[in-house]
Amino acid sequence: MKKLLPSVFLAALSICIFSCNNNESSNSERKSLLLANVDSSVSPGDDFYQFANGKWLDTATIPATESNMGAGKEMYNRTKLRIKEILETVSATSNTAGSIEQKVGDFYLSGMDSAAIEKRGYEPVKPWLQNIDAIKDARAVMQFAAGQITYGGSLLMGGYVGADEKNSSVNIASFYQSGIGLPDRDYYFKTDEATIKTVKAYQNYIQKLFTLTGDDSATAAKNMATIYELEKKIAGSHRTNVELRDPQSNYNKMAVVDLDKKMPAIGWTGFLQAISVKADSLNIGQPGYYQKLNELLTTVPVENWKTYLRFHVLNDAAPALSSPFVQARFDYAGKALSGQQQMKERWERIYQQTDGNLGEALGELYVKKYFTEDAKKRMLDLVNNLQKAFEARITKLDWMSDSTKIKAKEKLYTFIKKIGFPDTWRDYSKVNIDKNKFFENLLACGKNEYNYQVSKIGKPVDRTEWGMSPPTINAYYNPTFNEIVFPAGILQYPFFDADIDDAMNYGAIGMVIGHEMTHGFDDQGAQYDKDGNLKNWWSKEDFEKFKAKGEQVINLYNSFTVLDSLHINGKLTQGENTADIGGIAIAYDAFKLTKQGQDTVKIDGLSPDQRFFLSYAAIWRRKGKDEALRQQINTDPHSPANYRVLGPLMSFTPFYTAFNIKEGDKMFIPVKDRINIW
Ligand SMILES: [Zn+2]
Repeated sequence: MKKLLPSVFLAALSICIFSCNNNESSNSERKSLLLANVDSSVSPGDDFYQFANGKWLDTATIPATESNMGAGKEMYNRTKLRIKEILETVSATSNTAGSIEQKVGDFYLSGMDSAAIEKRGYEPVKPWLQNIDAIKDARAVMQFAAGQITYGGSLLMGGYVGADEKNSSVNIASFYQSGIGLPDRDYYFKTDEATIKTVKAYQNYIQKLFTLTGDDSATAAKNMATIYELEKKIAGSHRTNVELRDPQSNYNKMAVVDLDKKMPAIGWTGFLQAISVKADSLNIGQPGYYQKLNELLTTVPVENWKTYLRFHVLNDAAPALSSPFVQARFDYAGKALSGQQQMKERWERIYQQTDGNLGEALGELYVKKYFTEDAKKRMLDLVNNLQKAFEARITKLDWMSDSTKIKAKEKLYTFIKKIGFPDTWRDYSKVNIDKNKFFENLLACGKNEYNYQVSKIGKPVDRTEWGMSPPTINAYYNPTFNEIVFPAGILQYPFFDADIDDAMNYGAIGMVIGHEMTHGFDDQGAQYDKDGNLKNWWSKEDFEKFKAKGEQVINLYNSFTVLDSLHINGKLTQGENTADIGGIAIAYDAFKLTKQGQDTVKIDGLSPDQRFFLSYAAIWRRKGKDEALRQQINTDPHSPANYRVLGPLMSFTPFYTAFNIKEGDKMFIPVKDRINIW
């Protein structure tokens, strides 16, 4: 079940994916790892990614339970074993009722009780299916959707609570486009072979859920056709993922009385009452979708809507039902979408559910054992150095006026810095967890999260909140909080390690810090001021120059072909690519402020600068299934791993110097054409 999280916030997340070994290596092994993976048969100027990672790429294999392998996955594998131990310990201990240990332990036990889950089949959702049977009109369709939403779902209505983008100190309820089962609207309209194969897998999945709940195959096929046809109409009203990157067009604050007039079939007032939302106005992210929904509620027969609801209720619940449902969902979402061959073991799936539902309780147990104050302090030093380096870069920019520079620096120094874990943990006191009732535990968590989110509407924004759990191996920038956030999970080797040299740390976690900082100044982030408001702070002329530089980024990445004729979508990935290009430059300048950065002493025959760039390339080493790569190109704002290395370095002159890159090398770009934004 999805949680109500601000989508703009999600869209701005950086998904940083890394690599290394599961077994802990010694310090000296870690230091020489850079050289161990180098393939010297490749010229660094032709393909630096292949040069830095060639030996690893030659030997790495993707386990059947995964869709990719790389540094990030290796960190995840290390983290998951630590968490397995925590889960097994707390679930085997007799804990005080109501303590986080009891909740986490019993949640895990309930999910591991496969005998009880198998025995129940799809019985947990039967009351909902009966409610759907009783639906008589469009109003009842919306009332049913409302009921599901109070458990944290997004059936037909993609609601979330977050800072009002034009009044960022107050929370507002927003509604995002929703209603489709494939990952993106384009899947319904593309006609290439790979897309058709994915659509077919989705259609098979829809039919499978109907046959598992008693329909004969002819009825299941008919139901599938009804749903697919309806979803295709819905998809036609969706904005494309490139259009969704424009924050101004996603901001449409509307009075509820007007919404009732414009879209009477949705019945906004009654719907909001049913989901306990008290508000006079809402932000409707994509009005086109809601107008279409209003129209479809009056034109599509109610029987078709009931078929649609039945599938989506089963689809949302499938991972928590008996194995035929779990398997059916895996065949579509795991195999067809990601190329994963085998399901992950049960304990890992339940760990992920625990993280998704009791993330800060599990996180509290995790950081007690695996995160130190010293790591937090070292990380803060790095962040502060990067901030100084970024400021100096802004001062030196040749394309920006002094007045805009002052504003940019103000924004830079207003960043909230969050490292490791939150100061205040989320309250789970109202969540009752029973070790015998997995499905009910999920509902209790969903309900608690929903109530928490709704309670914030109209209230001041709490900027101490976190959007990721502490063990998460990722980092993010959130424009409405103007914050950079680094969970404990990402602060481990090879991204970050107290025992490796500065070159390695600055090339890895330094680049991640620079990347997140640059998000505050990418094509989206630059539209928000230092207080997180969607409000212009640029001079007109400077913003025009900035946009022209953005076009350079779009054009460069559009030229990268990934699979057969599939190329990177330069517009979709513009923000992430801008953050990568800025990130490496800021990290390098910050590295130059350290003793090693000013030195020439070699380690393993590598100069400090060479180590910096090799460390950068090493964190992005990755092998993925074609299916996963296709899905990434279609939906993910991040470029594929190799281009996250090649794209930024092609424009970065100190890299040319460090590896003696010359005209004629494949990565070579003439100085005048190198992209230099931040
Ligand atoms: Zn990012």
